[in-house]
Amino acid sequence: MSRYKDEQCRICRREGQKLFLKGSRCYSDKCSVTRRNYAPGEHGQGRKKLSEYGTQLREKQKTKAFYGVGEKQFRKYFEMAENKKGITGEVLLQILESRLDNVVYRAGFGVSRAQARQLVNHGHFDVNGIKTDIASYLVKPGDVISVRENKKDSKIIKENAEINSNKPVPEWLEKNNEKLEAKVVRLASREDVDLPVEEHLIVELYSK
Ligand code: SF4
Repeated sequence: MSRYKDEQCRICRREGQKLFLKGSRCYSDKCSVTRRNYAPGEHGQGRKKLSEYGTQLREKQKTKAFYGVGEKQFRKYFEMAENKKGITGEVLLQILESRLDNVVYRAGFGVSRAQARQLVNHGHFDVNGIKTDIASYLVKPGDVISVRENKKDSKIIKENAEINSNKPVPEWLEKNNEKLEAKVVRLASREDVDLPVEEHLIVELYSK
């Protein structure tokens, strides 16, 4: 498990950016990027200049890691984005933001996306009153995501509610702290996404 945790920090160090893949540690001085902001490995301190392809690939890998999505699923989202109206890169980010595990994290019901995904998989949430345990479920405007009645007293939900009670919620969500629910007011726009990514590079990579 600890190896897996270190793996997450190695991803951030490889990208040279904090991707907030863990919980409170990401906001503390224990963060590996804060302590050792160079790539992991023997030659990590001498970052190489990347080729055009390498730069595009890094942006894709960074985005996949940020949302915790595998290659196959990510490609599927890209194809969905291509078939929708709008700027493909921005629509791609909008789709990723709409994943239920991301919404649970954004609403502060989980301290990291990884934990949020686990909570969803373990059946802690309803969408519009119906138990939904699929982390990749894509929410729509008007959807209400709530902690299931029989999970409201669980230790982890209570702890997260306390830790995140003052955490700002993005404008596209409306959170009710008392009811432990969040409503999707609208889909996320590019301005709502705090990932430092140049999404057009991902589009360029997949368009080769
Ligand atoms: Fe690790 Fe979080 Fe820091 Fe990334 S941001 S290096 S996951 S502690």
